[in-house]
Amino acid sequence: MEYNLIDGKATATAIKKEIAEEVKKIVASGGKKPHLAAVLVGHDGGSETYVKNKVLSCEQCGFKSTLIRFEENVTEEELLACVYKLNEEEDIDGFIVQLPLPKHIDEQKIIMAVDYKKDVDGFHPINVGRMAIGLPCFISATPLGILTLLQHYKIETSGKKCVILGRSNIVGKPMAQLMMQKQYGDATVTVCHSHSATLKEECREADIIIAAIGRPEFVTADMVKEGAVVIDVGTTRVEDATRKQGFRLCGDVKFDEVASRCSYITPVPGGVGPMTICSLMKNTLAAGKKEFYK
Ligand code: NAP
Repeated sequence: MEYNLIDGKATATAIKKEIAEEVKKIVASGGKKPHLAAVLVGHDGGSETYVKNKVLSCEQCGFKSTLIRFEENVTEEELLACVYKLNEEEDIDGFIVQLPLPKHIDEQKIIMAVDYKKDVDGFHPINVGRMAIGLPCFISATPLGILTLLQHYKIETSGKKCVILGRSNIVGKPMAQLMMQKQYGDATVTVCHSHSATLKEECREADIIIAAIGRPEFVTADMVKEGAVVIDVGTTRVEDATRKQGFRLCGDVKFDEVASRCSYITPVPGGVGPMTICSLMKNTLAAGKKEFYK
């Protein structure tokens, strides 16, 4: 089957351009640039890259950005104090604390401390709850990016059978909520996880598969229905001596054998990843405009 490759990189670039245009207009009419702060703890390679790309995207969108760094041994109290300060700082419209955090810090405690009005990651329970009942709010960046991609490619989701692999708070659960809701996916949703007994069978019946489990090449051709739409969220670093960095990013889908069965499929990298950052920019613009909360 001739498949369509969903180009997340090009879509994200186009959306960031639109955001930059809007920021120009805001500034021209006397408004201020949206300001995003990012808090980075330690020196994890993946987190460093994500934060670097977020700062770069802020520049592309015409935003102001601030990076705050802490060493791995920062205490929970110090990090909480930083969050409280950012909550109060008037010039900062939104901020993120890059996850994962070191084991001695309670991630949930940090998430709860962020003012939900500045929670552009959409992780605070108020935003999660508002999203679940369909109220305006910051929607978690990866699921929002996937929705945007589906809309951008005019992929019909209403009434379709959608299988989501993974039930994490940042991807699987919010994705399921959004795909089920009338005003977003309007699909019939099944969520599978590591204890699902009929995962393969569920996948085989799916019109749309969204894989977010972090298991390289888990989804194989025998699990995919002819003509399905496959969205690969997985980004696992696998050793690769032929690459300069010594690794490559591997998705949850065995692309080479699955693609020919699909109507649409995302690549890794260049699919969901760039859209996640783009969604963070969308949320920051909304925060700057006080779109959801005064
Ligand atoms: P996570 O918190 O580790 O959750 C993984 C989920 O997958 C869990 O619900 C787990 O089930 C399920 N799972 C694990 N192994 C499984 C198996 N063999 N069969 C069925 N289900 C299985 O992961 P996450 O944070 O959601 O991230 C998932 C992947 O997406 C990772 O590769 C991550 O790097 C990537 N990611 C990419 C982006 C992006 O922008 N591209 C953003 C976020 C995450 P249990 O609940 O039963 O443990």
